[in-house]
Amino acid sequence: MKTLADLLAEGVAGRRVLLRADLNVPLDGETITDDGRVRASLPTIRQLTGAGARVVVAAHLGRPKGEPDPKFSLAPVAKRLGELLGGEVKLAADVTGESAKSTVDGLGDGEVALLENIRFDARETSKDEAERGALADELAAFATAFVSDGFGVVHRKQASVYDVAKRLPHYAGGLVLAEVEVLRKLTEDTARPYVVVLGGAKVSDKLGVIANLLTKVDRLLIGGGMAYTFLKAQGHEVGQSLLQADQLEQVSGFLAEAEKRGVDLVLPVDVLAATEFAADAPHEVVPADAIPADRQGLDIGPKTRELFTGKLADAATVFWNGPMGVFEFEAFAGGTRAVAQALVDGTAYSVVGGGDSAAAVRLLGLPEDGFSHISTGGGASLEFLEGKELPGVQVLED
Ligand code: ADP
Ligand code: MG
Repeated sequence: MKTLADLLAEGVAGRRVLLRADLNVPLDGETITDDGRVRASLPTIRQLTGAGARVVVAAHLGRPKGEPDPKFSLAPVAKRLGELLGGEVKLAADVTGESAKSTVDGLGDGEVALLENIRFDARETSKDEAERGALADELAAFATAFVSDGFGVVHRKQASVYDVAKRLPHYAGGLVLAEVEVLRKLTEDTARPYVVVLGGAKVSDKLGVIANLLTKVDRLLIGGGMAYTFLKAQGHEVGQSLLQADQLEQVSGFLAEAEKRGVDLVLPVDVLAATEFAADAPHEVVPADAIPADRQGLDIGPKTRELFTGKLADAATVFWNGPMGVFEFEAFAGGTRAVAQALVDGTAYSVVGGGDSAAAVRLLGLPEDGFSHISTGGGASLEFLEGKELPGVQVLED
């Protein structure tokens, strides 16, 4: 796999380089609530501009429906990126249209331009290879080299991630390279005890990884919205809590499989049961097997915080994906804070994966350098841990 270092060695001064970055930040209106991904993209951009390249950045934001939608404009990102780089970042008004062409043409050495949200073009995510290829052709015409640095999207076979690499000399950016290296440590010769903490909202997205992790880990701690499907599978009432009823059977299978393999699968023993999904909802601590029918669990309880902290204390490797509760509401952030703090306090090689988990670390004010690695790509890291090939990485290897 050729890397950014190889490209810099070839020389990029005056050359146009297409960079796929992951700038998919959370927005509140036009305000970026967590600029972690923008900051993570800076080292690669700076190396390119520092060497005199003309950098054309392609990125997506949210899930627009394959057509321009002002709600998903990259304008706030262009502004923030410019502030962080200390220079203007020009934003094209379209993806590969007239505005993009003239913006790219107008780039000087060491300057950066951002194409408008790549998902404004339906071809980006098309299942049809020819459609994706047509967009990739237009993107490839903007540059003479492609740097793939959007780790958060390398599990997607999309025009700006996969197809464009087939059309230009391609290089792995620093971020993609670092992420792949970290993930290898979680799958090969992993230091033990190896503990995985899973949480968050959707069990369905994480079923595949659970199946694979059960063959690899010593302990699997499950909290967050995901825990209730497990509690229900054990026959407990979960009230109004998040529940994936159609996955109960599979989850029962995981419980049996964990037992068979001797994996310590740890579920909450108590939860914060609230009357509704709201920041100021009245709530109380209840045992995990006695959630009242009219309540919903929005965080793990104090006994579970202690239990999970204990299970993490002697770990040598920890992978954490998914908040333990609705951390966006301070009243229900305690579980997530406790798990994060246990990783900061411990000596394990600790990796945080998942957009919301990474955002939680920053939002709750934990030191980012207290973790060995904070991944920028939740879905991509999960698919890697599932044992799947990542098309956006594989294509860089050819
Ligand atoms: P990540 O992005 O880290 O992979 P997910 O996207 O799976 O995590 O889930 C994050 C979301 O899960 C957060 O917005 C959080 O509020 C929500 N969540 C966590 N626990 C619960 C719960 N008990 N009930 C409802 N939502 C929850
Ligand atoms: Mg998420």
